[in-house]
Amino acid sequence: MNQSNSAAPPRSGPRLLAACAVEELSPHLRRVWLQGEALAGFPASLEGAPVAGSHIKLMLARPGQRAPQLPVLDAAGEVHWPPRDVSPIKRTYTVAAWDPVQGRLAVDFVLHAASGPAADWARNVQAGSLIGVAGPGGPRRFAPQARHWLLLGDASAAPMLSACLQQMQSSPRPGLLLLQSAHANGEDLPPLTLPPGMQLARLGYDCAALIAALQAHCQEWQAEDWRACSITLAGESSQVVAARDWLLAQGAQRAMMYAVPYWKQAHDEEAYHAERHRIMDELGAE
Ligand SMILES: Cc1cc2nc3c(=O)[nH]c(=O)nc-3n(C[C@H](O)[C@H](O)[C@H](O)COP(=O)(O)OP(=O)(O)OC[C@H]3O[C@@H](n4cnc5c(N)ncnc54)[C@H](O)[C@@H]3O)c2cc1C
Repeated sequence: MNQSNSAAPPRSGPRLLAACAVEELSPHLRRVWLQGEALAGFPASLEGAPVAGSHIKLMLARPGQRAPQLPVLDAAGEVHWPPRDVSPIKRTYTVAAWDPVQGRLAVDFVLHAASGPAADWARNVQAGSLIGVAGPGGPRRFAPQARHWLLLGDASAAPMLSACLQQMQSSPRPGLLLLQSAHANGEDLPPLTLPPGMQLARLGYDCAALIAALQAHCQEWQAEDWRACSITLAGESSQVVAARDWLLAQGAQRAMMYAVPYWKQAHDEEAYHAERHRIMDELGAE
C-alpha cells in the first residue's frame, strides 16, 4: 500500500531494551516483552492508527558481545554507525503489542527450525537479555475505506494480521483470511479473532494451491470488486509474489495493496534484503 503511515512522531535513535517476560503463543511462536527507560516517548499510534502492526528494526548483538553496539542519532538527526565488524545484526519485525501503562513492548518471534540470529535470540532469551529496537514505521497494512478485505500470511505475519483484524472489528466488511503453515495442523499459528464477515481458509506453502484458493473464493468477482478490495500479503517471498501478480492481473489496485515478503526459503536476511526491497519498490510500498 503506497500511502505511507510512517512515523510522524519525533525521530528517536534506536532504543536499548531488555527482555522482561515471555509468552508462548504457539509451539513455534514466542512473544517477548521488552522494557527499558528508552521506551519513553514510544508512540501509541501512527497517524491515527494504533502502533500495533507497524514495522520495527531489531538490532542484535554480534557473537561475543553482551549488548548490541547501537548507532547514535546526533542533534542534527544524523545517524552514526559503529564500525561494520561490531555493528549490530539487523532484522525487521512487527510491533505485536504496546502496553503504555507498564511501558512494555511485545515482539512475536517465529522459532523457525533453521538457525538465525533473531530466532536464536528469542529461543535463548532470558530476563535481562538486551536488544536494540528502531522505529516504529512502515507503510499502512490495509485500506480502511475498502469494500472487501483480503489477507494472506503465515506465522511471521501473525502479529501484523492480528493488528489488522483488531482494527477491522469496528467496521466489518466481507473478507477472506488465508493462513499458511508448514505444519499440517497449523500448530505454529496463534489464535486470531476474526471480525464479522471474515472467512478463514488454511493452506500450506504451495503457490498453485494458493491461487486455486483465491480463484475459488472470488470466482464471481469482477474487476470492480478487485479495484475496491484492500489486499494485505505477507509471509514467504514466493507466496507473496505469486499472490500479488495474480491479484494485479485480476484488476487489484497497487494503491490498495500491501505486499511485503517477510522472509525467503533458504535465504537469510543478509542474502534476501536487496531482493525484498526490489519487490516492494515494484508496488511503491517502501
Ligand atoms: C516488515 C516485516 C515484518 C516482520 N515481522 C515479523 C514478526 O513480527 N515476527 C517474525 O517472526 N518474523 C517477522 N518478519 C520476518 C523476519 O524478519 C524474518 O523471518 C527473518 O529472516 C528472521 O531472522 P532470523 O535471524 O531468525 O533468520 P535469518 O538469519 O534471516 O534466516 C536464517 C534461515 O531461517 C529461514 N527463515 C527465516 N524466517 C523464517 C520463517 N518465518 N519461517 C521459516 N524459516 C525462516 C531463512 O530462510 C534462512 O534459511 C518480518 C519481516 C518483515 C519484512
